[in-house]
Amino acid sequence: MTAATGLLRRLPSVDEVLRTAAAEAAVAAHGRTATVAVVRATLDEIRTALRAGPGAGAPAWSAEAAAGPESAGPESIALAALARLAAAARPAVRPVLNLTGVVLHTNLGRAVLAEAAVAAAAAAMRGAIALEFDLTTGRRGERDDHVRGLLRELTGAEDATVVNNNAAAVLLVLNTVAKGRDAIVSRGELIEIGGAFRMPDIMARAGARLVEVGTTNRTHLRDYAEAIGPRTGLILKVHTSNYRIEGFTAAVPARELAPLARERGVPLVDDLGSGSLIDLARFGLAPEPTVAEAVAAGADLVTFSGDKLLGGPQAGLVVGRKELIARLNRNPLKRALRIDKIRLAALEATLALYRDPDRLAERLPTVRHLARSQSDILAQARRLAPAVAAAFGPAVAVEAVECASQIGSGALPTATVPSAGLAVRPQAVPRGARGGGRVLSDLAAALRALPVPVIGRVADGALVLDLRCLDDDAALVGALAALPTPGTTTEPAR
Ligand SMILES: *Cc1c(COP(=O)(O)O)cnc(C)c1O
Repeated sequence: MTAATGLLRRLPSVDEVLRTAAAEAAVAAHGRTATVAVVRATLDEIRTALRAGPGAGAPAWSAEAAAGPESAGPESIALAALARLAAAARPAVRPVLNLTGVVLHTNLGRAVLAEAAVAAAAAAMRGAIALEFDLTTGRRGERDDHVRGLLRELTGAEDATVVNNNAAAVLLVLNTVAKGRDAIVSRGELIEIGGAFRMPDIMARAGARLVEVGTTNRTHLRDYAEAIGPRTGLILKVHTSNYRIEGFTAAVPARELAPLARERGVPLVDDLGSGSLIDLARFGLAPEPTVAEAVAAGADLVTFSGDKLLGGPQAGLVVGRKELIARLNRNPLKRALRIDKIRLAALEATLALYRDPDRLAERLPTVRHLARSQSDILAQARRLAPAVAAAFGPAVAVEAVECASQIGSGALPTATVPSAGLAVRPQAVPRGARGGGRVLSDLAAALRALPVPVIGRVADGALVLDLRCLDDDAALVGALAALPTPGTTTEPAR
């Protein structure tokens, strides 16, 4: 009899495993059905691994199981099952620490909401709300009415409407105003945003005919003037959110396009993308066009996102002329693109914060993060360095460093903001070395595998944890506490 067949015979039964304390804990946390299924699957895998013999691609824990009868006992099998249940029960959509230095990171959910917005969204989820109900008259109301007044007040526009996101806003505008007609756009503004949002494709889906004017680097007022004809539906200005054309360039600002559009009776639409509601210069950032400026410049409709610089939930906002907004609201597509009650509640609460710009940095995380000074962040990095170094253990060097953050989500694409963070280097990687990529990517993977994943960025031979968006020191120390104890090597949990 081989060692393996001996082990096979001694393998506990499902019932034996279920009688252990660990299995009882698993049943309490995850239910009997799931626990029994996982215990059975675990036992099956051990059996298969033992039959296949060593080195046959067995799962990591089964090597342990094969190591001796002790570790293949009922308690250790129950513990393995419990770990698997816990891993499977972890939500896929779960909080991470965004230490990438990109404040509005599209892949990490963009804007972090203000407490007021979180509370409003939670209240809207918990009970009935006056969503499309006019509390004064007791009659049916419009869901947009909740933010219409605020948006008018904050942008100076005649009217406003809200949809699912800015891509939806652009689609709705094009479909309403330019279906079966020409939409005139500069060749320098035919953008592609991440996630396959390409202006020419959106135009086609909206039923508008794209009429390109000018060249990639230079477009003049006369290019627009010559393109306007009886079939023109609108002129579209698009904020070149994620790139800059530099050198020998010319573009026509909305302010100069507006008189031409008005004279020829063609609506001018300005897709701002991020579209800030306040002048970011007051926080020391490079200027980004504000929505109020675009409205004042004479755009008939202005579209922008709710979860970029505005710092609210995902939403697409359209402000502008009353008659055009009314047409958008009558388009049946509006119903398909509408915003839900949870985000509408959060959006209203976010917009309300803009009534008091002096306290915005205190209350709105996006603005607070963008406004943080490098010295403040560097002090935080120095304060945190010892605890973070302790969590990593002696094989890893941790150093407070200066770095550069980005705004992200297509706001000020080429500008960076001076920031600071922690440079984490496995000792095997010398400073400034290029070759340590593998070690660094393993380290980055280990941080992503934590129960609260920590997302940094690899730069200059180090994993840099930019602390601009870290509100709470304890959150990072707590997340890193789950790192494998220094000295042991463990595969990152899957
Ligand atoms: C980001 C962006 C969009 C898309 O906005 P979403 O809110 O992501 O749908 C459209 N146009 C421009 C110019 C943008 O920057």
